Amino acid sequence: MSSPFGQFPSYRPRRLRQSPALRRLVAETRLSVEQLVLPLFVVEGKKVRRAVKSMPGVFQLSIDELVKESARARELGVPAVLLFGIPDKKDLRASGAYASKGIVQRAVRDLKRALPELLVMTDVCLCEYMEHGHCGVIERGDKTGRVRNDPTLELLARTAASHAAAGADMVAPSDMMDGRVRAIRERLDKDGFADIPIMSYAAKFASGYYGPFRDAAESAPQFGDRRSYQMDAANTNEALREVALDIAEGADLVMVKPALAYLDIIHRVKTEFGYPTAAYNVSAEYSMIKAAALNGWIDERAVTMETLLAMRRAGADILITYAAADVAQWLRE
Ligand SMILES: [Zn+2]
Repeated sequence: MSSPFGQFPSYRPRRLRQSPALRRLVAETRLSVEQLVLPLFVVEGKKVRRAVKSMPGVFQLSIDELVKESARARELGVPAVLLFGIPDKKDLRASGAYASKGIVQRAVRDLKRALPELLVMTDVCLCEYMEHGHCGVIERGDKTGRVRNDPTLELLARTAASHAAAGADMVAPSDMMDGRVRAIRERLDKDGFADIPIMSYAAKFASGYYGPFRDAAESAPQFGDRRSYQMDAANTNEALREVALDIAEGADLVMVKPALAYLDIIHRVKTEFGYPTAAYNVSAEYSMIKAAALNGWIDERAVTMETLLAMRRAGADILITYAAADVAQWLRE
């Protein structure tokens, strides 16, 4: 039987690699600025622009500076930002997470007023607002870090609704509690936000790649770890079940986090469900490239673009990356 493919010497793959124009013409995957989401960290104060040491180029920003940073990204073509709030005060009910004048709620209002075209997404979790740094409710006195699932759902739903009330275009629950997407969807619908989409961190793995993020978001758990709610890195079938659950509960977009070490998960999620799929190019994926580039060991631009392209190739439609503004600039050059 003859092969359906060309054979050497009549077929020579190198023919289509001879010029940049030819290579671009036959490129199977592309990076586009329209797919980028820039995560930003917002803090209290004015004119605050505090460098995150472990993430060169990333800052904790007060709301006025956040608006400036977002405007700069928007001018470069970045369509969306994802907000993480860092409150001054934390407690055991995460009350700052759902306060109508909380840090994220005020940031959303100012951002939407200044930049109505910008898509403002909000991370929905409790860890930045909890004294203990866990993503949900812990029984008083419990030092084992056992997060109580069902009592947490109500607080997450309140948080998401308060973001929507402030004007957020999309909410993104990252807590990994069971049933949170349904709780949030029901609450949003009840409060008149049936049109606000949910992007769920559907397959979020407990990962060493979050190290630098915890400096940025000041959300490291004071005791225990997150392994009783975030997924085990060993599991792929379970990731598909997590995604299936979130879709059944009303997720409009699904996310895999981290991205680089989980390209197989991205691929399976996209192939299996065909839903809009986001890849979170997490802090250490970003910082490893930065650190090596600062040492002169790698070409930052080449490695960043190649890394993001790999996520696209795996099946990601949306790329959440701290390098979004840089990438937008590079795509113009
Ligand atoms: Zn959290």
